[in-house]
Parts: sequence; structure tokens; C-alpha cells
Amino acid sequence: MVLRVAVVGSGPAGSSAAETLAKAGIETFLFERKLDNAKPCGGAIPMCMVSEFDLPPHIIDRKVRNMKMISPSNVEVDINITKPDEYIGMCRREVLDGFLRDRAAKFGAKLINGTVHQLDIPSKNTDPYTLHYADHSSGSLEGEAKTLQVDVVIGADGANSRIAKAIDAGDYNYAIAFQERIRLPEDKMAYYENLAEMYVGDDVSTDFYAWVFPKYDHVAVGTGTMKVHKATIKQLQAGIRTRAAKKLAGGEIIKVEAHPIPEHPRPRRVVGRVALVGDAAGTVTKSSGEGIYFAAKSARMCAEAIIEFSNQGTRIPTEEELKIYIKRWDRKYGLTYKVLDILQTVFYRSNATREAFVEMCSDKDVQKLTFDSYLYKTVVPANPLIQMKITAKTIGSLLRGHALAP
Ligand SMILES: Cc1cc2nc3c(=O)[nH]c(=O)nc-3n(C[C@H](O)[C@H](O)[C@H](O)COP(=O)(O)OP(=O)(O)OC[C@H]3O[C@@H](n4cnc5c(N)ncnc54)[C@H](O)[C@@H]3O)c2cc1C
Repeated sequence: MVLRVAVVGSGPAGSSAAETLAKAGIETFLFERKLDNAKPCGGAIPMCMVSEFDLPPHIIDRKVRNMKMISPSNVEVDINITKPDEYIGMCRREVLDGFLRDRAAKFGAKLINGTVHQLDIPSKNTDPYTLHYADHSSGSLEGEAKTLQVDVVIGADGANSRIAKAIDAGDYNYAIAFQERIRLPEDKMAYYENLAEMYVGDDVSTDFYAWVFPKYDHVAVGTGTMKVHKATIKQLQAGIRTRAAKKLAGGEIIKVEAHPIPEHPRPRRVVGRVALVGDAAGTVTKSSGEGIYFAAKSARMCAEAIIEFSNQGTRIPTEEELKIYIKRWDRKYGLTYKVLDILQTVFYRSNATREAFVEMCSDKDVQKLTFDSYLYKTVVPANPLIQMKITAKTIGSLLRGHALAP
């Protein structure tokens, strides 16, 4: 037999899974409802993604080496990457997603321009799954109704995942992010040449941070807040526009977009022979709201588990075997998620804690630790003396601003 796998959604998660599977000779179907999809996103990726996912230079619009953190009282802390070859990559999602999708197809994944709207679950655990989809390949929006049978399904269809609903994966809490793409006059854009800004304060986000990220020919200006505060999102966006007003003067809004961001994993990420990856599973980190790398990585790890436990596609893997992908994922990144969760809880609580957070970011050791963890996705423990110094400084910053008061 040759194992048949359907991957629903071709964002960074879906295309990475499809490429890995197709390279191993597994019959892979990659579904995408909108081939020119421009996912609402800041588009910041860590440097390690470029090498790990073999991204060519044209995917990176800008190499950001300077980051400005701006506190509620407008204290600015500059964080500069000092090593000459290090950077944060800024990309446009339509370019990144298009590249990854085309590469998966080049390696043999069968790309279907279709919207999957139903998944039939078989009663016997060796029978195939049936996907019902609208095929848009003729150019029609409504599409032609079609079905496909497969042995394994990967749900990579983002935060509003239909595959997650079909397998009753359970809900997650989510944040809502709002973003405006703004084209700036040349002199204003020059300021953001290789600089990104992060603003904190309850005027710009009650739960996270607001950002100005440079893109190809514009800046992405946005903010996010938890679902419970979502009615305030436009007010928060007005907050970041006011704070950055001078730097954005004369800018023209070219796109307005909004999308949910999952806050934690779904209760069930593998059910039967259906596995969720990326946003569909809930792999975005707290504090930073980073999801692109983790989407691609979770999908690749899921695909690798499928290849391993199907004996290179010659047998059907079981639910227990697919769940090993989740175990491996949690073992590799569990600590990262926990640390970022604690950071969010401690530092985004009030304007006093946010002031303390920005103050703490002025410390060179904190900057190095943060950048190393972000750029390389490995938590490199600092030597014990530096760790003690960071801890003392953190507590000091919190105490100075009376930020530890309930
Ligand atoms: C405003 C905003 C800013 C962000 N900024 C950053 C950032 O700077 N850096 C970062 O790392 N992360 C950022 N994120 C998070 C990041 O965008 C996501 O974590 C990432 O896109 C997840 O990738 P994915 O492949 O899992 O899902 P998605 O990128 O959502 O891809 C899902 C794909 O599935 C397709 N699809 C959906 N349903 C169906 C269906 N039924 N049939 C067929 N196809 C379907 C969609 O069209 C889409 O192409 C941001 C998110 C938001 C909302």
C-alpha cells in the first residue's frame, strides 16, 4: 500500500507537512481554499527558520537588527543585535506562503485549490476518511462539489479550523489581532529601515503589546487583545496610532486586517488518524504571539512521525502512534511555552509592571538571553551569576514601580 494523507490548509504549517510527506514518497494532497491568501500577520520570523526551512533570500523583505521597546510613559529602550550576521526576518505572508506551497508541490504534493467543508469519520479504525470539498480550480468561487478518501488527515487550517470541529478537538481561548498596513513617505520609511517597535501600555493593549514592523514597502501597525476585550480593539489601535503619530505622519493605509490568535493548545490535538498542527492545534506562544515558526515546525514534526510510524508509508499509523508527535512536541517546547506564559502573566498586568518590563529590557544580559532564545529557538542557560543578576534586576524593577502590589 501507499499511505494517502490529506493536508488541509497551506499556510506555513500545511505546506511544511506536505513537503516532508511528499519527499518521503507518501501520496499527499494539499488543500488550499485561496491560493493568493495574504494571512493577516506581522510577518516576523526568527533567523533559525531561514536555515531550518531552507528559505531563499528573496523571502526576507527586511533584516531587522534594532528593536525599540516603548513603555507606557514613553521611556524608550533600544535593543540592538550586535553580531553582524544576526537578524529578525520580516516577510510578507503572501510571498512566504506562496513559496512554501509551490515547493511542496514541486516535491510531489498534489495541490488542490479547494475549500474542505466536511470530514466524514469512518466507524472502523482502518477505513478511509472522506473529505468533502468545493473545487475552485475552474476559477469559480462556489466551486464544484467533490470528495476524496484518505488514510490520515492533517488539519493545518488555522485558528478557525473546520478539521478541529469535525474531530471535536475542543475550544481554545483566543486573542484578536488587528493590523493596518501603512505606506509611509520615503523619509519616514527610512526611519524603519531595519527597526521594529514594540509599545506597551493599557492605551495600546490591555493584554499584550502593539507593534510597528517594517515590511517590503510599508509598515505593519497593529495590536492584539484577549477575546473578552475584543470590543475595544479599534480603540487600542487608535492608541498605537496616537503614540506613533509623528513617525507615521503622511502615511496611507493600504490594508486593514484582523484575525484570531490561539492562546493555548486545544484539549485534543490528535483524534483517531487526524492530527492538528500550527494554529489549528494552538501552537502560538504567549507574550510574543509568535506562530509562524512553531506552525511550520509542529507540522514537520507531525509529518515525520507519520513517516516513521507508517514505515515510510507502507502501513496505516494508529492514533497512539500519531500522539507520539504531541509528546515529542511538548517535551521539546513545553518549557518555552511555560516561561512565556509566566512572562505574560507577570509583566502585562498593569502599567507599573509594563514599566518594569521595559526597564528590565535595558539590561544587556537580558537582551542577549532574549535574542538568543528567539533567534535560535534554544533556551541557552546563562551562567549562574548572570542568572542571579537577571533575577535580582527583575525583582528590583518590579518593586521600584510598586508593580508587585495586587
Ligand atoms: C495580526 C497578526 C499578526 C501576527 N504576527 C506574527 C508575527 O509577526 N510573527 C509570527 O511568527 N506570528 C505572527 N502571527 C501568528 C501567525 O500569523 C500564525 O501563527 C500562523 O499564520 C499560523 O500558521 P498556520 O499555517 O498554522 O495557519 P494559517 O497561516 O492561518 O494558514 C491556514 C491556511 O489554511 C487555509 N484554509 C483554512 N480553512 C480551509 C479550508 N476549510 N479548506 C482549505 N483551506 C483552508 C487558509 O486559507 C490558510 O492559507 C500573527 C497573527 C496575527 C493575526
